[in-house]
Amino acid sequence: MKLLIAEDDSTSCAMLAAIVSKWGYEPIAVEDGEAAWTILQADDPPRLLLLDWEMPVLDGLKLCQRIRQQETNDHPYIILLTARSDTTDIVSGLHAGSNDYIAKPFENTELQARLQVGQRMLKLQAELNQVRENLVYQANHDVLTGLMNRRAVLQALEKEICRTQRTQETLCVALCDIDYFKQVNDSHGHLVGDAVLEEVARRMSAVSRPYDHIGRYGGEEFLIVINTHSDQVLGTFERLRLAIADSQFVIDHLRLTVTMSFGISMLLPTADKRDAMSLIASADESLYKAKETGRNRVVCLEM
Ligand SMILES: [Mg+2]
Repeated sequence: MKLLIAEDDSTSCAMLAAIVSKWGYEPIAVEDGEAAWTILQADDPPRLLLLDWEMPVLDGLKLCQRIRQQETNDHPYIILLTARSDTTDIVSGLHAGSNDYIAKPFENTELQARLQVGQRMLKLQAELNQVRENLVYQANHDVLTGLMNRRAVLQALEKEICRTQRTQETLCVALCDIDYFKQVNDSHGHLVGDAVLEEVARRMSAVSRPYDHIGRYGGEEFLIVINTHSDQVLGTFERLRLAIADSQFVIDHLRLTVTMSFGISMLLPTADKRDAMSLIASADESLYKAKETGRNRVVCLEM
């Protein structure tokens, strides 16, 4: 593990670096706080920090404060090193944001033990961050398809409605439904049905742009939110429709022809009604027309 040592006394600095290397750390030694700060701004910075309090240019205490002002979930673990041992000094060190404090002169065993505590805390913090990331992912994604879930895609829609009002772009909302999906489940079982949903998601993602929002809205229904020029809307959704219908789905030994109907509503910059629910209702109306007029097609209504 990398260990940043900031200590202006070059002899102490070299000794510290030598001893922590023996303990298995990779020391990065600097002689003032500003140099330490520069290292912390680079890619993959050390997370475990041993900072001398008294240093030129930028002292350990000020460096601590500067580090803690940064917004991050990945806080470094800071041990302050100093000859000061008054309670008031210790308290101001901790207030400045250090996690621990070692008074000089110290026993090597104590330093080693405190570094180990730091390492343990960093490991816990990393695990916590991972759990948090997983929770955020799960809260926003559909388990089966990996697409956005209903909640997330509706949120994206709300944001896009506000954004396109500002940018004067056309916003496009599509409700898409796999045709005769119930028959797939009834004839081949739910596992095949699930595989069809996954493949539909994969194909749609493959032909869409990274900034398009595709979410699973319900069972076999998807909600797509994109902004594009109004003359390109039909082309865009034709591409999606063909991505599904053009080649058969191969699931185990089965070859299935799958098609999808698309109902689109467009929100023009001039529209005065700008709410998500009426956009979706009008997409739903288009979808109904697409189903009624033969399925496997794109139907678009303007708002
Ligand atoms: Mg010093």
